[in-house]
Amino acid sequence: MSDKPKVAVLGAGTMGNGIAQVFAQHGHPVVLRDLDGNILDHARRQIERSLARLAEKGRIRPSEKEASLARIAATTDIGAAAGCALVIEAVVESLPVKTAVLQEVDRLTGPEAILASNTSSISITKLGAATGRPDRVIGMHFMNPVPIMALVEVIRGQATSDETTRSVMDLARSLGKTPVEVNDFPGFVSNRVLMPMINEAIFAVYEGVAKPEAVDEVMKLGMNHPMGPLTLADFIGLDVCLAILQVMHEGLGDPKYRPCPLLKRMVDAGWLGRKSGRGFYTY
Ligand code: NAD
Repeated sequence: MSDKPKVAVLGAGTMGNGIAQVFAQHGHPVVLRDLDGNILDHARRQIERSLARLAEKGRIRPSEKEASLARIAATTDIGAAAGCALVIEAVVESLPVKTAVLQEVDRLTGPEAILASNTSSISITKLGAATGRPDRVIGMHFMNPVPIMALVEVIRGQATSDETTRSVMDLARSLGKTPVEVNDFPGFVSNRVLMPMINEAIFAVYEGVAKPEAVDEVMKLGMNHPMGPLTLADFIGLDVCLAILQVMHEGLGDPKYRPCPLLKRMVDAGWLGRKSGRGFYTY
């Protein structure tokens, strides 16, 4: 038995996988929940591959790989979140979906449980107000890929308490991450700064300024970015980028955040980037 609090991760996509893995690596029993068994099988394989890579590089012992996997219980049953001290939702970037999920876990979990959202842009204040515990609702914005990236952007909603913020900051540190506290405005800090750059890079392609490869090369070699903005957009998921820009456009009411028509068209086509095999590049 672990003495670390049990954590539920809702959504086993790109982010949910990584979040579940990091908690399991640090000794937490984890419930990983998604809507169907195939998604969960895929998630488990991803986590296994990621742990194997860390073991190959000598960053974890082979025994830690097995122990971490054994701590993750994958399920389609949301009821499994009942005994958890912390719930992190990492479902699709949609206010109605996130609200419904948080309301369900609000009913299921004990009154002390903290409900965290991994949202990239949606108002933590709105999510909190939809529950009966807005003081214990907070943003815990992990970066992709979660096992590698140091930052956790911790977002305080209007009603988030000091105590909740403190415990989530401490928890992030206990996972080996560096938490940075920010306030609740659309896109927070990370995407408020990142998404306009990605959107502008897409406009540059749309207007024929340059091909995706050229845009990325300019930003990599000229600005010392480790990855060009269009490679990064494919990595994040073009649907996720579009959803974030829409939240910022609506929430901040400034036309500078309007998503590029090319981004919309690619999402309509199902070209979502790396996860669908095609975006600005093919995989
Ligand atoms: P994704 O599309 O890869 O995964 C979302 C998962 O949620 C899917 O597996 C889907 O089946 C599942 N889901 C949908 N409704 C559900 C429900 N009611 N209950 C349980 N699972 C449900 O998306 P992602 O990239 O992992 O993004 C998840 C969240 O993390 C979003 O809020 C996104 O904005 C945020 N985020 C994404 C990134 C990134 O780089 N992709 C980075 C930081 C934060």
